[in-house]
Amino acid sequence: METVTDYFGSLVFDDRVMKSVLSAGDYASLKKTIDEGKELDISVANAVAEAMKNWAVSKGATHFTHWFQPLTGITAEKHDSFISPAPDGGVIMEFSGKELIKGEPDASSFPSGGLRATFEARGYTAWDPTSYAFIKGKTLCIPTAFCSYDGNALDKKTPLLRSMEALNREALRILKLFGNSSVKRVTSSVGPEQEYFLITKEMYDERPDLRFTGRTLFGAKPPKGQEMDDHYFGIIKPRVAAFMEELNRELWKLGILAKTEHNEVAPAQHELAPIYTTTNIATDHNQLTMEIMQRVAAKHGLVCLLHEKPFAGVNGSGKHNNWSISTDQGQNLLSPGATPYENAQFLLFLCAVIKAVDDYQDLLRISVATAGNDHRLGANEAPPAVVSIFLGDELNAVVEAIENGTPYEGTEKIQMKLGVDVLPKFFRDTTDRNRTSPFAFTGNKFEFRMLGSSNSIACANIMLNSAVAESLKIFADKLESAEDFESEIYTIVRSTIKEHKRIIFNGNGYDDSWIKEATEVRGLLNYRTTADCIPHLLDKKNVDMLTGLGVFTPAELNSRYEIQLENYCKTIIIEANTMVSMAKTQIVPAVEAYGADIAANAAAKKALDSSIACRYEVETVKKLSELTDLIAEGADKLAAAEASLGDAADIGKESEMIRDVIIPLMEELRSYCDKAEVLTAKEYWPFPTYADLLFGVNS
Ligand code: ADP
Ligand code: MG
Repeated sequence: METVTDYFGSLVFDDRVMKSVLSAGDYASLKKTIDEGKELDISVANAVAEAMKNWAVSKGATHFTHWFQPLTGITAEKHDSFISPAPDGGVIMEFSGKELIKGEPDASSFPSGGLRATFEARGYTAWDPTSYAFIKGKTLCIPTAFCSYDGNALDKKTPLLRSMEALNREALRILKLFGNSSVKRVTSSVGPEQEYFLITKEMYDERPDLRFTGRTLFGAKPPKGQEMDDHYFGIIKPRVAAFMEELNRELWKLGILAKTEHNEVAPAQHELAPIYTTTNIATDHNQLTMEIMQRVAAKHGLVCLLHEKPFAGVNGSGKHNNWSISTDQGQNLLSPGATPYENAQFLLFLCAVIKAVDDYQDLLRISVATAGNDHRLGANEAPPAVVSIFLGDELNAVVEAIENGTPYEGTEKIQMKLGVDVLPKFFRDTTDRNRTSPFAFTGNKFEFRMLGSSNSIACANIMLNSAVAESLKIFADKLESAEDFESEIYTIVRSTIKEHKRIIFNGNGYDDSWIKEATEVRGLLNYRTTADCIPHLLDKKNVDMLTGLGVFTPAELNSRYEIQLENYCKTIIIEANTMVSMAKTQIVPAVEAYGADIAANAAAKKALDSSIACRYEVETVKKLSELTDLIAEGADKLAAAEASLGDAADIGKESEMIRDVIIPLMEELRSYCDKAEVLTAKEYWPFPTYADLLFGVNS
C-alpha cells in the first residue's frame, strides 16, 4: 500500500527533485538563489525551466501558470500550455527560463487602488524561487510576485518578502552584537491554525445569502447551539472524517504539513493546523489549503465556509497565526535560553515584540480588518478589537522584576542571576494557556489570534515583521553606539518594559471591564470596525515606519487604503442587496402565504360556527401581518439608503455611511425576519434554518 512518505510532496518541485534532475552546477546556483537571494543566470534559469517542465509533464501537466496573490486576497492564475508547433505538424512541449522568471498577465482587471491607470494595463509577475513550484490539476504553478511596470507591488507577496528582508537585516545586526557572527539569515516562521465550517451542498444551494455572501444574513437561533460544549474535540463524524482524510492526502501531495485536525466549539465547525514553516511558504500554503478545502468539500457534497461569521449567535472562525523568528542555524530567537547571556538576547527580542505591538497596535488591527472579521472582533468569543499581549505568569513576573529593579525569585527552578548583567535567569514558561488574548506568548512563539478565517495571512505578517524590525532597528542603533554593551541592554529592556507595559494584559480579554480599562485607563486603541481603522494606515508614524524599512512605497500604501475600504463597502453592499432581495422575494411571500392560510382557516371555522373565537389565528395573523409590514418597509429603507451611497464624496465617507447607516438598517431588517421565522410554520419557510444547516452534516 502507498504510504504517506511515498506520496508526500509528490506534486512539488522540491529540493529532492531539484537535486535529482539538475546538474550539480545548476543545482548549486539555484540553491544560492533560494537561500541567499542571489540573482539567477539566464542559462541556469533555462536549465531549471527545462527540468521543471519535464518533471511536470511526466506528472501529467499540460500547462503552466504564474501563481500570484493579487490584492483581492485570493490567488490568481492564467494558464498557458507548454505546446509549441513542430515542423512536422505535431507539437513539442516547451518552457524557457524567460517564461519561468517573468510573466506578463493583463493587470487591468485586478484591484490596484489607483496604482495602475487602466491604460497601463500591463503588470508583470516575477518568480519567487523561495517557494517551490507545484502541480495543481494539469497545471504547473510557479509562485510569483505581481508588480506594475513602474515597480509598485500589486500583490501581497512582494511586501511580505520585503518585510522578511527588513526583519532579517535588523535581527542580524543584533545577533552580531551578541557575537553571533556565523548566522547568515534570520527568518520569521508561521503555523496558521485554520478554522472552517462544513455544511451540506443541498442546503447551501437553497440559501442565496450563503451563495452570494458566504454567510447567513437571516436565521433565528436554533433550539440547540454550542451551549453544551459537546462539539469541541468531539468524535469526528464519518462524512467529515472522509472529507478530512481526502483533504490531508491532497495537502500532503502538495508538501503542505497538515498536522492536526479537530472539531471546534460550534457545531459543524472544525480546525486544521499545519506544522509551521517560513512565513512566505506558510502564506502560499495557507492560500492553497483554503482553496483545496473548498474543492475537496465539493467532492463530498459539502461546502466549506471560510467566512468569519457564517452564523450569528455561534462562534465565528478565525485563524491563529503562530509566529516566531529563528536563525538559519535553527535557534529560535523567541525561546528563553539556557544561560543568562542567551536570556539577555531573548529578553531583547521579547522587548522588540512588546514595543512593536504597542507602537503599532493600529497596524495589527488594520492587517486583519475586513467586513467579515468585524463580526468577530469585539464579539464575546473572539479576541477583542483591542490589541494586547499575554505573557504568562512566569514571564510576567520576570518582566515586573526588571521593571521594579527587584530580584526575581519565582518558583524554585528560577533564580536571579547577576552574571552577565542584572537580568534574571529563567526557563520556559509552563503555566496555563490564555485563550482570550489577541496576542499570546506560548513558550517560544507568539500566537496572534485576531486574523479572520478567510484572511490571507500575508497582511498580518507583513505588519508583524515590519513592526518588530523597526524595534530591532532602534535597539541596534543604540547598542552599536553604546559604550557598555551589557548595561545598554539592561537599559533598553528596562525602559521598554516601563514604556510599553500598558500593552501587557494577562487577564480575561472577553471581559467588558477589560475594554473599559484598556481604553480609559491604559489608552489602548479600540477600532471596532474596518471603517474606523483603515484610515490610520496613512497616519504619519505608520507611513514613516513602513516606507523607512522599504516594505511599502507611499503609493502602495495609498492603494491598500483604497482597496481595503473598497472591499469593505462592496462586501456590505452585496450583503444589503441580497437581504433586500431575500426579504422581498422569499420571506415576505412566505410569511404572507402562511398568514393567508391561517386567516382562511379562521374564516372556515367561523363559517362553521361563528362562536368559535379563533384567538390563536387572529393573534398570529396580526403578528405576522405587522411583521410583513415591517419587513417590507425595512427592505425599502435599506434599498433607499443604498441608493444614497452614491452621494459619498470619497471611499472614506462611503465606508462611514456603510458603518453608520447601512449596517444598522441591515440589523433591523434581520431582526424582523428572524422574529417572523419563529412564528411561521417550517414548511412555509423558504430556506433551511440554522438547525438544518448546523446539524445537517453531523446527523
Ligand atoms: P496549540 O497552540 O494548539 O497548543 P502548538 O503549540 O503545538 O498547538 O502549535 C500550534 C501551531 O503553532 C502549529 O501550527 C505549530 O506548528 C506552530 N508552531 C510551533 N512552534 C512554532 C514556532 N517556533 N514558530 C511558528 N509556529 C510554531
Ligand atoms: Mg493554538
